[in-house]
Amino acid sequence: MNQYKPLEELVTRSQALGADQSLVVYGGGNTSSKGEINDYLGRLRAVLWVKGSGADMQYAVARDYPALYLDELRELTQFDDLDDETMVDYVTRALVDPTSRRPSIETLLHAFLPAKHIDHVHADAICALTNHPRGEAAVKEALGDGFAYVDWKRPGFALSKVVGALKDYEGVVLAHHGLVVWDEDSQLCYEKNIAIVGKANAYLDSLSKRPASKFIHQDLPTSELNELLLKMRGTLGKKQVLRVDTRLAEVASRSDLSDVLAAGVSSADHMMRIRPKSAQATIQDPVSGIEKYRADYSEYFESNKGLLPAGYTSHGNDPKVVLVPGVGAITTSPTLPEAAMLADIATHTHQVAAQVIDAFGEGSPLPDSEIFGFDYWPMELFKLKNRPAPLVFTGHIFIVTGAGSGIGRGIALELGRLGANVVLADLDEAGLKTVQSEFTAAKCAQPLLVVGDQSDEATVARTVAESISHFGGIDGVVINAGIGVSDNLDDLSAEKWRKGLEINLSSAFLMTKEVITAFKSQNMGGSIVYVASKNAFAPGAGFGGYSVTKAGMLQLMRIAAIEGGGSGIRANAVNPDAVFDNSKLWEGGIREQRAAAHGVKPEELEDFYASRNLLKARVRSLDVANAVAFLLSDKSSRTTGSVIAVDGGVAAAFPR
Ligand SMILES: [Zn+2]
Repeated sequence: MNQYKPLEELVTRSQALGADQSLVVYGGGNTSSKGEINDYLGRLRAVLWVKGSGADMQYAVARDYPALYLDELRELTQFDDLDDETMVDYVTRALVDPTSRRPSIETLLHAFLPAKHIDHVHADAICALTNHPRGEAAVKEALGDGFAYVDWKRPGFALSKVVGALKDYEGVVLAHHGLVVWDEDSQLCYEKNIAIVGKANAYLDSLSKRPASKFIHQDLPTSELNELLLKMRGTLGKKQVLRVDTRLAEVASRSDLSDVLAAGVSSADHMMRIRPKSAQATIQDPVSGIEKYRADYSEYFESNKGLLPAGYTSHGNDPKVVLVPGVGAITTSPTLPEAAMLADIATHTHQVAAQVIDAFGEGSPLPDSEIFGFDYWPMELFKLKNRPAPLVFTGHIFIVTGAGSGIGRGIALELGRLGANVVLADLDEAGLKTVQSEFTAAKCAQPLLVVGDQSDEATVARTVAESISHFGGIDGVVINAGIGVSDNLDDLSAEKWRKGLEINLSSAFLMTKEVITAFKSQNMGGSIVYVASKNAFAPGAGFGGYSVTKAGMLQLMRIAAIEGGGSGIRANAVNPDAVFDNSKLWEGGIREQRAAAHGVKPEELEDFYASRNLLKARVRSLDVANAVAFLLSDKSSRTTGSVIAVDGGVAAAFPR
């Protein structure tokens, strides 16, 4: 006999429930099955498999469901109450495998109910039934007398005991929280859940006083949306991603939006991710809505901080979600995937609040003290503890031009490894895709690719605009796109000269102009790093068309530093020399030409360059990337108008 059949059924059922975000989102809810297995001494023992804390049902696998000895858990009913820590301690001791993941904080609810299969979901429809002053009556009307109604109580030992005593009902509705159903058969348990949620939805629809929606959302023009994002990011004043989501556009456009937001989150666990409330702002004025939110949160924190558990401080006064009429929701986070997750949760939570108001006329949030208790509840915050620590550039947004190969590729990858959200711009689409796959392989945040010629004004404008629309702002740009321009002056064609100027220098001017404008709108300073060249200070024969553009770039950098300083915008340059790894600069005869100029064979060029610098070192793109990262970071916050040589030491090219 397969002792693990109940576990297999549990995994399958959980995946099905988790696939529907109107039932659970991102680690919410929990499910269990009971069975018998042989323990380490061969004894047949009753066990409970229950979802691990924070596990996402959608992606359920067997190891997300630790097994616990049921008799050990049921012994705990002898206590009248247990505090959270003691309960977790006792539950942990009942684990069949002490090294398995921490079981759900709601484990005892599953242990105290006798049914073989139990599902607990935070269904939107069930929350909509309870989040208003007549919750208990609405549950009876919608679902009949078979369901027990339990007023809000924070999950833990006491709630588990209450629910455990309700085994003779068909199921339990937990106000402001969710639903518990059970059955001896796994499939029937799932079907019950779906049927009850369907009943709740039908009831809510029958009550809705709102006429059928004629709402049509129209996207804001990109320039207006970007201006809003920059102003909002600047007001929040933090290096983070802002993501626009139009699913809440209709809710955001309601005349009673403030009532919808005042109704709070639909299921209490949502506040752990999106905060207890969301902010409200307008396109014309993104500032005062955020300032009001901050003042309100600060007041709520100050008046409840007596309840703050030891060792905890304020989460900060900033919103995670801002609703803007005509736009929808803007969510803030260090990364785009997390911002998308917040948007998913916000969509469910605020749509439930809107549904409550339409059906019952008013919502009723939990009292502030209960909200605070959950907002700062160590047991829920545990779920967030497993996040990776932030990296130096977490939440930062940078553009790198010429990122499809060579130094640009090296810089982009290093910024990605340091946690940045990176925009890769290059003419070479295939090169960009290769670098993108390197980002994936290195488990860096997915970059945004912008294909186009950076000496074209429209392309530069599009590069900056797409960066802002995609990531919500801009913190720095690395101006690196360029080509080699060889030949002695008397041989250099005017066409070649002009092309070099366009690609190496005019492109740098265009990006400087565009990004300074964006930095000023955002009002958070900004850093521009120019990838110039050793040749800017120490040119050589036969490479003048190139050296002039790089010397011009340094002058451009100085002027950007002078003009940008008053707005906190910094401009600096790096002067690399002879960087060969994966670089296209040496293609098209340049390698052969430079080798001939120095009287060596083409394949000896790397060694030749290394031999003539003071450190006798080959210069790698990573060396350039390290200098660029320093200039983009706050570590260089007092540095502007400077040049860092990354050339192994060339005395003739010392900055002066
Ligand atoms: Zn729950």
